[in-house]
Amino acid sequence: MYIADVFQAESLPVSFEIFPPKGELPLEEAREVVSGLAPLDPAFVSVTYSAGGGGNSGRTIDVARMINDEFNLTSMAHLTCMNATRENIRQTLGAMKDAGIQNVLALRGDRVEGASAEDFRFAKDLIPLVREAGFCVGAAAYPEGHVDCLDFEESIVHLKQKQDAGAEFFVSQLFFDNEAALRFLDHAHLAGIEVPITLGVMPFMSKSQITRMVFMCGASLPSPVVKLLARYEDDPKSLRAAGIEYACKQMVGLAEAGADGVHVYTMNKPDVAAAAVEALGMAGFGPAAHDAREGAPC
Ligand code: FAD
Repeated sequence: MYIADVFQAESLPVSFEIFPPKGELPLEEAREVVSGLAPLDPAFVSVTYSAGGGGNSGRTIDVARMINDEFNLTSMAHLTCMNATRENIRQTLGAMKDAGIQNVLALRGDRVEGASAEDFRFAKDLIPLVREAGFCVGAAAYPEGHVDCLDFEESIVHLKQKQDAGAEFFVSQLFFDNEAALRFLDHAHLAGIEVPITLGVMPFMSKSQITRMVFMCGASLPSPVVKLLARYEDDPKSLRAAGIEYACKQMVGLAEAGADGVHVYTMNKPDVAAAAVEALGMAGFGPAAHDAREGAPC
């Protein structure tokens, strides 16, 4: 199924992000994760891509194919271009096509040290190639601006360039401040963004994880999150539960505000995804409650 079509559904599209097993680790790990996610009936499951280029792309493709073929779900393969040549990209898209993948998230990625390919500067340069190859193509959106772009309005201009290049939907970077994300949606719509923007939420699991993420993506930490981090600093179990509960409340708030969709950064933990679906279901969004969600923490 083309992901652009999932946004036509009456119920809120709830999707999940997972990452493939690292290096030579067995694919079985990913199979277990997907089998935990499948009963939650996600709108789609996206699979991250190693920015190193061709080396690890096979893992993304293998996992996306498994999602489609073994679980009969819709997959989306991420694809980065910054360290790749046009030929690398053509080959990877060919392999994705052969694997039956229909949806690609077209990304610039971050530069890998030592890489010298200069065929792509920005994601907008990749998007037309993916589209021409017959995929439904999504791109990344940044509710608080991209970490390298200090001017928020400029980041909206760059978002619009991706839509103009052919992006059919956007998936957002994680954020902890719903107000900031809703302001961003207003700005994007005023700037002419018409394609759906599904909003990415990641439950925080530990202080070190949240610190790393905030530095990597520039998301702001609202005071309720800072207070939870302080309160449960020495109690990892309670901090994890608080992080999931905070994310669930965030997602319900976004759904109530009329978000096009919610994308859960699952960190390969089906219980996290289950908690999100449970909370949304209880608030009247998404598919009906499911057995597999029993025992979810919120
Ligand atoms: P772009 O849209 O090209 O933007 C990159 C920077 O260039 C931004 O600062 C932007 O403002 C600026 N820019 C864009 N256009 C112009 C222009 N015309 N002139 C000047 N400046 C411009 N990374 C991975 O390696 N693998 C993954 O699987 C992965 N998945 C992701 C999924 C999501 C939903 C998100 C939000 C990010 C993901 N990333 C992933 C991270 C992403 O690769 C980085 O954030 C990367 O730095 C930017 O990618 P982009 O596609 O947004 O780039």
